[in-house]
Amino acid sequence: MGQTYDILILGAGPAGVSAALTAHARGRSVLVLGADPMTGPLAKAPAVENYPGLAGMSGRDLLAAMLRDLERLGIPWVTGRATGVVPFAGRFMVSAEQDVYEARSLILAAGSQQRDKPLPGEAELLGRGVSWCATCDGMLYRGKRVAVLGLGGEGEKDAAFLRSIGCDVLYFDPAQAKNVKIKGTDRVTAIVIGGEEHPVEGVFVLRDTVAASALLPGLEMRDGHIAVDGDMATSVPGVFAAGDCTGRPYQIARAVGQGNIAALAADGYLKERDK
Ligand SMILES: Cc1cc2nc3c(=O)[nH]c(=O)nc-3n(C[C@H](O)[C@H](O)[C@H](O)COP(=O)(O)OP(=O)(O)OC[C@H]3O[C@@H](n4cnc5c(N)ncnc54)[C@H](O)[C@@H]3O)c2cc1C
Repeated sequence: MGQTYDILILGAGPAGVSAALTAHARGRSVLVLGADPMTGPLAKAPAVENYPGLAGMSGRDLLAAMLRDLERLGIPWVTGRATGVVPFAGRFMVSAEQDVYEARSLILAAGSQQRDKPLPGEAELLGRGVSWCATCDGMLYRGKRVAVLGLGGEGEKDAAFLRSIGCDVLYFDPAQAKNVKIKGTDRVTAIVIGGEEHPVEGVFVLRDTVAASALLPGLEMRDGHIAVDGDMATSVPGVFAAGDCTGRPYQIARAVGQGNIAALAADGYLKERDK
């Protein structure tokens, strides 16, 4: 672990980039941590017609231009998937695979939470046979039979890694991983896929992202989105949220505006704490 950032922004989509630009303009040290934004929703937009001044630019080009702004201003941006947030002594420790980052405040700009609904049994058995990270937990399952649900882009690579360290791997790609149920009471005992039950000791659920609500226990949700007030403050002091993760309409203009408000509010929060 290195420096403590003033503000860590989770997500490098429009809301996250907007928050980063404003926080940087306020003189704050900022780290943007996000899964590859080119796998996010905006990259799929063929032409954006409702954002002022862009004249039908493609989502990919718009995203690339936003990311160039981070580079131009020297705002650090690391590509990675956050897997957990632990509040500790007024700070937040954010783990991303094998790295841990520390910050005094957080802005969650992780996009719509709807697509990351947990599988039946996943939340209940997390840490008791269910894992979100092959690198972090693979060794615990050496010599054991595990199922790997490759729901994101890196699933096959992670399955190969688990095999290389001696796990007996049953791999399911996104097309196969339908109608899934993870079974067990104290620990995982089996996975049911498409009506067929496979006895396993571990289940790796590998998505490109982990929903912010699952990352930070105690975060209040409303209708499947992170609950925020007018300053984009969440129920956890020092944690702000912006963009699609806070609700509809899912639109770039809203995400960018909320990112701006969240950064100003995080700056205000830090000023109050430093008085
Ligand atoms: C096909 C399509 C077309 C669209 N067209 C338009 C349009 O024309 N106009 C318009 O206004 N809107 C459009 N949208 C909606 C627009 O893309 C979203 O509203 C906008 O991208 C939201 O920005 P955001 O920053 O809130 O979230 P996102 O763009 O979703 O960015 C969030 C980022 O956080 C990352 N992330 C999530 N969890 C984690 C984690 N645990 N660790 C690390 N990173 C994480 C995600 O991978 C993602 O890159 C379209 C969407 C789609 C799917």
